[in-house]
Amino acid sequence: MRVIPLGVGGAFTDRFYHTNYLVEIPECRLLIDIGTTIRYSLLAAGYTAQDINAVVLTHFHSDHVGGLEEFSQRCRYMYQYRPTIYAMPDQVPLLASLFALHGAKPADYLNVTTVENPIVINNTGDAQYQLEYYSTIGLHAQVTSNYMISIRQKGRDNKAIRVVFTGDIGPIEKSELGRLVANPETVAVFHDCHTGSTPTPAHPSLEQMKDLYPLEQRGKIHVIHYSDNIDQYTDRIKGAGFKIAIQGEVIEW
Ligand SMILES: [Zn+2]
Repeated sequence: MRVIPLGVGGAFTDRFYHTNYLVEIPECRLLIDIGTTIRYSLLAAGYTAQDINAVVLTHFHSDHVGGLEEFSQRCRYMYQYRPTIYAMPDQVPLLASLFALHGAKPADYLNVTTVENPIVINNTGDAQYQLEYYSTIGLHAQVTSNYMISIRQKGRDNKAIRVVFTGDIGPIEKSELGRLVANPETVAVFHDCHTGSTPTPAHPSLEQMKDLYPLEQRGKIHVIHYSDNIDQYTDRIKGAGFKIAIQGEVIEW
């Protein structure tokens, strides 16, 4: 499994692309989130829309979903191609409203696959890959649907690894993150962290993250969705034992 953070910035970044990920598993390139900067971030990483097999969404803020309409239209009109979109049952009507804004339906552009959580997305070759959603409703702004996502790779030898993507989540102590990070299967957690000058209930601060995660677990955590002032935080984040996600870097397990 390979993960490339196509963007690492928060909603109002001028310096980075919006946080989203390209996940490569056998026979499938998956996008996790598709914010308004996807038209640039995908190209910057050397891909085009037709290289993407499937899209997964954490929630419907524009820095996570704002590029979906254009992406879908590119796939249809430039490449005559229909990628899959995985959607939890409560995401299906939200997707429909998004496309209704321009008089269309998601199925006009995308193969909509409703997720029975968890869902196996690839079972060929040496491993099975499972997509799992964890509700974080009530833990981020006023969104009516919000998820963390994990991808679990289980080998034929039954050895499993798991990579977690937090999406956006404020009070992390009320979520399942403590348990997920502590799980020995978990090899990486891409974790939103607010580095702006004023605190927000929408994302955890570095101090909240230090309170929740013991030192020995912090090396799994890649801080992402940060503000443009990240340079002022680099020493503190690394000094606390966390990693910092780098835009375009390829991470492989
Ligand atoms: Zn958000």
